[in-house]
Amino acid sequence: MNVPVVKVISTCMSIGIMVSINQRLDAETINIVAEEFGFKTEYVSAEVVEAINEEEDREEDLEPRAPIVTVMGHVDHGKTSLLDNIRQTNVIAGEAGGITQHIGAYNVKLKSGRRITFLDTPGHEAFTAMRARGAKVTDIAIIIVAADDNVMPQTVEAINHASAAGVPIVFAINKIDKPGANPEKIKETLAGMNYLVESWGGKYQSQDISAKQGLGVDELLEKVLLEAELLDLKANPDRRAKGSVIESSLDKGRGYLSTVLVENGTLKKGDIVLAGTYFGRVKAMFNERNQNVESAAPSAPALILGLNGAPQAGDVFHVLETEQEAREIATKREQLQREQGLRTQKILTLDDIGRRIAIGNFQQLNVIVKGDVDGSVEALSDSLIRLSTEEIQVNVIHKAVGQISESDITLAAASDAIIIGFQVRPSQAARRAADKDGVEIRLYSIIYDAIEEVKSAMEGMLSPEIKEVQTGYVEVREVFKITKVGTVAGCMVKEGKLKRANKIRLIRDGIVIYSGELGSLKRFKDDVKEVASGYECGLNIHNYNDIKIGDIIEPFEEIEVKKTL
Ligand code: GDP
Repeated sequence: MNVPVVKVISTCMSIGIMVSINQRLDAETINIVAEEFGFKTEYVSAEVVEAINEEEDREEDLEPRAPIVTVMGHVDHGKTSLLDNIRQTNVIAGEAGGITQHIGAYNVKLKSGRRITFLDTPGHEAFTAMRARGAKVTDIAIIIVAADDNVMPQTVEAINHASAAGVPIVFAINKIDKPGANPEKIKETLAGMNYLVESWGGKYQSQDISAKQGLGVDELLEKVLLEAELLDLKANPDRRAKGSVIESSLDKGRGYLSTVLVENGTLKKGDIVLAGTYFGRVKAMFNERNQNVESAAPSAPALILGLNGAPQAGDVFHVLETEQEAREIATKREQLQREQGLRTQKILTLDDIGRRIAIGNFQQLNVIVKGDVDGSVEALSDSLIRLSTEEIQVNVIHKAVGQISESDITLAAASDAIIIGFQVRPSQAARRAADKDGVEIRLYSIIYDAIEEVKSAMEGMLSPEIKEVQTGYVEVREVFKITKVGTVAGCMVKEGKLKRANKIRLIRDGIVIYSGELGSLKRFKDDVKEVASGYECGLNIHNYNDIKIGDIIEPFEEIEVKKTL
């Protein structure tokens, strides 16, 4: 813009943003600042998608394509059994030959002659990880629930992950051959969650099945096809292919192998493929039965050889005209990726909300609510939803009891959501993932505080004056019961430090059990003021004795934070 830096900084200050000279600004701030100086801004996507000329398909070239289906559900409810059953019973005689290999996806032809493609990495983690990378591969999700069990936490997660992605759901109620099976109870629970199945007068299709005995599986697939018809899935086989990477690996003998799923066009041997930051000419292609193939049509998976690296699952691939073009885009992407890696990614924080509302481009706030007991999760979610105003819709895209998990972080990253934890904590892995992905986790011990903070953020007045800062991470290694003194814990300070004066929280399996103060803090026999990371110590908690091995003690300080606006 050819204006001195100080002017830019003072403009930022005038809108309440304190910046330094080498700080990156987010898009909204850039808009405002540029406008102040009479400039208009235009954004070039980091993905350089524009660099690839997308051919427009003409209506008459489009042909129906097979739906792409993912099976999700709670562990041991029968995902693998169902996928195996479908794979084994639907190989048509003439097509057989070669045992089905695991390449990440397979395509089956039903007796009716119609086809379905299954992604055979079951589980919603994979599903959402791919979505976080921009791939919307799945057309329909089968959510499997065991009829001799219940709607379990992972079932709820799977449903919420599918809903957040806007993917239609077909329920498969499994294990109906078992004596204790009660499919109606499952449907009742689903109804309670507002997922009313068809036999109960709702819009969700469901089918009772036994994956083990193959009962009802054909009917299930018919229902999937019915759902697919509504989606009117079409593709143009007569164009250069594009699609998504499902898996990739390095094979000692053959080089880089990638399984791709063609979404549009036809992928042929000899094509030049660009996937993520890698490219190459397709040297050979195999189908899921390890047979050499010359081409792969829309919705068909193929294992391809010839890329110069292993793209990530969820990366989009394109076929380009020349190798040079592919190389140029790959290099450019690599540069951008390196630069983005330097910049810490930031999804959305409560503090951003007020600013974005002021600019007027903020319409919905997605939140994930995790809590220690069902009652508080429900109460908190309901109150948050009630905060919705005409301008801003608050969506609780997932709520559950328990620790904040890695899969919550992936869902938040994919859905631009913030996570609100009530009396729960993220697991170590989730904490790391949140740092990496820039997902904001807000932890509260009082429901009212959580609601007030979100509310004031929505009103654009967020200014927390007292903020709790966690100053360490202490693991309980041993416990001793000593008469008159109570429970003494032998601990290890794993991160940060533990001060005698700190307030503390006791966490068990990610749930806050107790908040209070230390009664004593010792190293060997001596009382100490603080213990640093990597050292052992002994302590007891004032007025509290129920400490167990494996518990985590979290010291925290309350600090005053200056108002940001
Ligand atoms: P996943 O963890 O969801 O992939 O579940 P699996 O497919 O591995 O199944 C878990 C267990 O349930 C296995 O021991 C299966 O044999 C069993 N199972 C799966 N489907 C059925 C079914 O329809 N009937 C019965 N009786 N058992 C089943």
